[in-house]
Amino acid sequence: MNITQNIRQILNELPPGVQLLAAVKGCAPPEILEAINAGVRLVGENYVQEAERAYQAIGQRAEWHCIGHLQKNKVKKAVSIFDVIETVDSVEIAREIAKRCAEIGKVMPVFIEINSGCEPQKSGVLPENAPALAKEIAGLSNIRIIGLMTMGPVSGNPEDARPCFAETRKVGESIRRMNLPDVEMKYLSMGMSGSYRIAIEEGANIVRIGSLIFGGRE
Ligand SMILES: *Cc1c(COP(=O)(O)O)cnc(C)c1O
Repeated sequence: MNITQNIRQILNELPPGVQLLAAVKGCAPPEILEAINAGVRLVGENYVQEAERAYQAIGQRAEWHCIGHLQKNKVKKAVSIFDVIETVDSVEIAREIAKRCAEIGKVMPVFIEINSGCEPQKSGVLPENAPALAKEIAGLSNIRIIGLMTMGPVSGNPEDARPCFAETRKVGESIRRMNLPDVEMKYLSMGMSGSYRIAIEEGANIVRIGSLIFGGRE
């Protein structure tokens, strides 16, 4: 696998306005650095500990996104590393992010994670509950909603993800129509190696790609 070549190929293919996020779980800092040097601007980490290691090695040469489920006891560390947290799915976690950001004088941009596959074991808020959650979070200081993120179904035919992506976009539109203070529906983070083309057709402007860049790990 040639990381640089893979990234150039993907970047060439992405339409204007769609950003590539490199999903780097399991990658060593030199691999992440190669990705950044090849033109990746957004780096997505699933685990706070891995993110800390990578961040110490690489620093502010990328925008660091938290794309994994965040536990409350990891929030303090997470807010000191990440530039964006894509996985907010409860008011409890939002309050903890707000509290820890207030302590260090930071305002954290976040995405609400939508459980668009509607599978009970997955993280994310159900689409029908997302507007109410957005409204609650909008009232907090030190945290600012700027988009939505969804996984959709991870296996199976990528076409199966299309209705999930479409529904997530609709949720974004309905939150936008609420005109909440300090809520800006700028980003839709949807689609992975197998499904990013479909996600883009359904309105994604951030695609999170791992195995297509770094090789199969799953
Ligand atoms: C691993 C991961 C991806 C990338 O998946 P690939 O199929 O390897 O492209 C995207 N988003 C999240 C949240 C992930 O954990």
